[in-house]
Amino acid sequence: MTDIQTASRPLTLALSKGRIFEETLPLLAAAGIEVSENPEKSRKLIIGTSDPNLRLIIVRASDVPTYVQYGAADLGIAGKDVLNEHQAQDPGGLYQPIDLNIARCKLCVAVRADFDYTAAVYQGARLRVATKYTQAAREHFAAKGMYVDLIKLYGSMELAPLVGLADAIVDLVSTGGTLRANNLVAVEDIMPISSRLVVNRASLKTRGAALQPLLDAFERASAAPAP
Ligand code: ATP
Ligand code: MG
Repeated sequence: MTDIQTASRPLTLALSKGRIFEETLPLLAAAGIEVSENPEKSRKLIIGTSDPNLRLIIVRASDVPTYVQYGAADLGIAGKDVLNEHQAQDPGGLYQPIDLNIARCKLCVAVRADFDYTAAVYQGARLRVATKYTQAAREHFAAKGMYVDLIKLYGSMELAPLVGLADAIVDLVSTGGTLRANNLVAVEDIMPISSRLVVNRASLKTRGAALQPLLDAFERASAAPAP
């Protein structure tokens, strides 16, 4: 990407549709920014805002760090779950200034309700774990001195223990409703999750004057108590 391309375009914020988009709208509104359409309805991937110097791009949640890292977006909003996995591949690639405190949940270990997790977990034991979050899972079980056979999945992790693919899963839990519906229980918390703002390091230097007011607005809006 040439400097001319990046310098003349509006600031670009990458985020995923669904809960992160929905929960970002009030933060933008607090900064006086309205979004010109709803990506769920319009299916557009580039969305203008009431600020001519800011546009949004709609990408897969796990692709947000990639767009920001390469500078195709100046900033992005992604869950700590996603950022933690990305960081393992590329430590220090992204500047992470603000915890936006949105899309909050927990990364947990869960098993079938009839599985004796306490008996299965001891130093030197072996466990089959299915997850999208292989980095977090590897670190969690390594710290317990356990061997894990990690099985990488991309979705519907809850199914894995039910059909014998794995003993346990590592997945995000908010209300626990999905676990309960599938006769699973959370047995360990790995880390609390919320969404963070990430910023491209070059943009921070070359477009700092345009970026800073937006960063300040996000900072204020995310620190404010929920309405
Ligand atoms: P895709 O659905 O495209 O496979 P995804 O499942 O990662 O991707 P979402 O379900 O929209 O996408 O989740 C996006 C982010 O929202 C996650 O990375 C996580 O940080 C957060 N999140 C996921 N599930 C929950 C939840 N139940 N409660 C709160 N936040 C969540
Ligand atoms: Mg999802």
